[in-house]
Amino acid sequence: MSDRPSVSVVIPVYNETDNLPELLDRTVAACRALGRPWELVLVDDGSRDGSADWLVQAADRHPGEVKAVLLYRNAGQHNAILCGFASAQGDILVTLDADLQNPPEEIGKLVAKVDEGFDVVGSVRQDRQDALFRKVFSGIINLMVRRSTGVILHDYGCMLRAYRRRVVDAMLGCRERHTFIPVLANLFAKKVTEVPVAHAERARGTSKYSVLKLVNLQFDLLTCMTAAPLRVVTYVGVCISALSVGFGALLLVLRLVYGPEWAAAGVFTLFAVLFFFVGAQFVALGLIGEYVGRIHADVRERPRYLIDRVVGETLGERRAAPASHRAAHHAGA
Ligand code: UDP
Ligand code: MG
Repeated sequence: MSDRPSVSVVIPVYNETDNLPELLDRTVAACRALGRPWELVLVDDGSRDGSADWLVQAADRHPGEVKAVLLYRNAGQHNAILCGFASAQGDILVTLDADLQNPPEEIGKLVAKVDEGFDVVGSVRQDRQDALFRKVFSGIINLMVRRSTGVILHDYGCMLRAYRRRVVDAMLGCRERHTFIPVLANLFAKKVTEVPVAHAERARGTSKYSVLKLVNLQFDLLTCMTAAPLRVVTYVGVCISALSVGFGALLLVLRLVYGPEWAAAGVFTLFAVLFFFVGAQFVALGLIGEYVGRIHADVRERPRYLIDRVVGETLGERRAAPASHRAAHHAGA
């Protein structure tokens, strides 16, 4: 064993039984190749397909290396990762997906970048193997995040990422219930970079994100990042009001010029304009609702997740006792 910083690899797993054998083999091999202490923390996010049992067996087969954290119910990908962070003990934390879209062989590349002194290392999927609508959607989101946070990364959706312990501890200290980890990390990282990584099609099974779940996740990303859309709503409201005053004046003038007949004929135009603004108001209200809903969730302070059980001991438990503030996260998370 070397005295280089230790690495924890955290993987959220939700109904991925078919992918697990290959995932474990490849990830363990990639971790061994690092030449430093490592652990693999697999978080079962309330799967119903036997993934949890498989993870328990994996932890039994790899004592001191693999830990299985089983959540009682589905808490969502980002909460599952936060749970993994809370029970991981490494100095460098790497996340990736369980469906083998992120090749575990890339872990070494990310860790090397952290060694160079970066706090957060993102990755950019080369030749991304996903549906076109997801790629277009991601392009818009990435542009938005870059504009809003000023952190110039090109692929916020790729979860193959590495974080320094300090950043992870700061994220664990955040109390929000709906969050988007790559964006949250931007708040605490001083030196951020990204590396190109390969991307594969999902090995087996189907995406765990329905269109609705995907849209919800984008709202998590947006609200975790900025309150600017609320300001935009205000500006739009002011502009609409100003325009409508001008519009009213124009209608009055036209009525005076062309007489009452003309005004009656304009009723439908007015309705069209009205419907447009009514629609815009609903959109604005919905947007405000997204924020209010999240404030509501945060005020209630319900636990982000419920741990059913933890199987396996890894490097943290065998090393000196973890710092007390880490233990506090276990209790408070
Ligand atoms: N995942 C999870 N909880 C969920 C949804 C997904 O832990 O509620 C995990 C899933 O098992 C995978 C990762 O998050 O490891 C990414 O999910 P998926 O590949 O379905 O997303 P996509 O690649 O379609 O964005
Ligand atoms: Mg995937």
